[in-house]
Amino acid sequence: MLIDRFDRRVSYLRISVTDRCDLRCVYCMSEKMQFLPRAQLLSLEEIIQVASCFVALGVEKIRITGGEPLHRKNIIKVFDALGALDGLRDLTLTTNGTQLPRFAAALKAAGVTRVNISLDTLREDRYRALTRTGRIERVMQGLDAALDAGFERVKLNAVVLKHRNHDEVGDLVAFAIDRGVDISFIEEMPLGFVGDHDRAECFYSSDDIRRDLAQRYELVPTTESTGGPSRYFRIPGVATRVGFISPHSHNFCAQCNRVRLTSEGRLLLCLGQEHSVDLRHVVRAHPGDDAALQAAIVDSMAIKPKGHDFDLQAQPVIFRHMNHTGG
Ligand code: SAM
Ligand code: SF4
Repeated sequence: MLIDRFDRRVSYLRISVTDRCDLRCVYCMSEKMQFLPRAQLLSLEEIIQVASCFVALGVEKIRITGGEPLHRKNIIKVFDALGALDGLRDLTLTTNGTQLPRFAAALKAAGVTRVNISLDTLREDRYRALTRTGRIERVMQGLDAALDAGFERVKLNAVVLKHRNHDEVGDLVAFAIDRGVDISFIEEMPLGFVGDHDRAECFYSSDDIRRDLAQRYELVPTTESTGGPSRYFRIPGVATRVGFISPHSHNFCAQCNRVRLTSEGRLLLCLGQEHSVDLRHVVRAHPGDDAALQAAIVDSMAIKPKGHDFDLQAQPVIFRHMNHTGG
């Protein structure tokens, strides 16, 4: 049976549904990013087919990401189809938040449980500088819409760069507490050339952030997990959890239970390595044949590596940008 051969380590699939975005964050894209021609992207139907095959094999959690997932035309169709799959326990979304006023209610109705919203700063001028084009009030309206829609959990994600926003970590936690949401701080990963800053100079580690936060908050370590690489801390007396995603300082491969599907249908077995399997080829060579697709998925698990190593001093060894892989 195929299902018996499926790697039981893997319970979590992240799907990048587009490489396009309305923003151009300095750590994610270069200023003149070239996007893929549409024919190279998986169609919405192909995304649904691949996701359904993973769920049939035992994957219980799917996160939809991008690029900006809510920027993809008719994307609600994917959420509706996945939300109806038997066996899927958790359907989640990572978004920059700008389109949430339009889509939050439909996402909730489709069965989305948790939403992560990227917000690196509370200052209008910095938000514009970090995203190159964005307006912070759009994200704030998106956050309000997510809270109104009543998702099980809303979390802010902040990538922290030295001298860009590292002095705001305490204010971001205060904001999260005030809005009753969780927050995770992310170390920048060296994916693709971004041409904006020297990644080694801007590196600010999770340990640095924790030291800064300790001036203002008592952080109590927990063993809580949402199935991802975040390590969570609690602040006594408040509901907000503070997470740290530390691909450099705490290489998280040992607990990694996830695989990623890129917007062009490559299955990546590790964010920090190039190993991948071309599932788009399988889908298009065997239209509608779930058995062929499931067999390809099961076989690809054999190359899931045990570790990765990012080197900030070297040129990127991973040439994919984050908008292709989806974080
Ligand atoms: N557009 C959506 C967003 O920004 O939330 C979803 C896609 S984005 C690629 C997913 C996550 O990756 C975001 O939280 C973003 O901050 C993070 N990210 C992007 N580039 C990164 C990098 N080089 N290192 C670490 N995190 C990065
Ligand atoms: Fe767009 Fe998200 Fe990348 Fe920012 S991090 S450019 S919002 S895909």
